[in-house]
Amino acid sequence: AKARGRGAWCFFHEAMTQAARERLELESRLRLALAQGHLQMYYQPQIDIATGRIQGAEALVRWNDPQEGLISPARFIPVAETSGVIGPLGEWVVREVCRQGQQWREAGLPPLNLALNVSPRQFHLTDLAGCTAAALQASGFPAALLELEITESALAERTEEARQVLVRLRELGVRIAVDDFGTGYSSLAQLKRFPIDVLKIDQGFIRDIPQSEDDMAISAAIIAMGHSMGLSVLAEGVETEGQLAFLRERGCDSYQGYLCSRPVPADEFVALLRAQAES
Ligand code: C2E
Ligand code: CA
Ligand code: CA
Ligand code: CA
Repeated sequence: AKARGRGAWCFFHEAMTQAARERLELESRLRLALAQGHLQMYYQPQIDIATGRIQGAEALVRWNDPQEGLISPARFIPVAETSGVIGPLGEWVVREVCRQGQQWREAGLPPLNLALNVSPRQFHLTDLAGCTAAALQASGFPAALLELEITESALAERTEEARQVLVRLRELGVRIAVDDFGTGYSSLAQLKRFPIDVLKIDQGFIRDIPQSEDDMAISAAIIAMGHSMGLSVLAEGVETEGQLAFLRERGCDSYQGYLCSRPVPADEFVALLRAQAES
């Protein structure tokens, strides 16, 4: 039994070091990718439900590895978070989105609201407001067109500090969206103290509409609650006409999802806008 126990331990130990090694390797490759310009922003249209027009986009990061191809943020953002690479990566994202937004303005495209993601550690441990102010200034992109998405769970920890960061961002003139709303445990009382502008209903509540009565009730409640607090409400992960019809009926302000488009590279996003302008 003893021998077997040790064997199991050895196996466990090896599996652990293997996982740790892979993590370290991914981390150093990610640093290199950032330095070599292998990260790229994709853009997913956000649609105004009342008019059916594209009002802006959520910017989502992609890692374009010469060998592996596209690597999903679901795989490397967690590594960036635990290793600290999220600092420089987050800074690059803010700068790149502001640069792209300003370039689109200069190309004569209609004003677009651009949203980007801020992960919990980036929100709590880096100088987000300072970094955002610098990116806006360097690019000339108007703060009023920039939106920062912070997850509900990031706002639920160290709430007084979180509130102060949001206040500083608000002073810059950027908008704040609460991402993945409904999956965290923020109370209404807490939410009321934060200067926020948009609630993004998590796609988990949209997926099973119209089959799930519960999810329809929850989504309707989030829309009503958001409106009663003067917030705009966006539904994410909308894939079907049935889901959109439900959201329209409930007065949801905007949506994003495969029904309109997957996240696409910048030039394809411009093509979507031009196609819309002609219709
Ligand atoms: P998220 O912010 O909740 O983004 C929504 C995810 O849902 C995106 O995955 C998007 O491609 C996907 N999605 C959009 N529409 C649909 C749909 O209709 N159906 C389904 N099934 N999925 C849809 P993606 O791009 O793989 O990003 C995953 C997560 O990685 C994001 O979740 C966000 O938390 C994080 N992330 C992405 N880009 C960045 C970034 O630039 N910075 C940071 N800190 N995190 C990022
Ligand atoms: Ca998001
Ligand atoms: Ca989300
Ligand atoms: Ca999510």
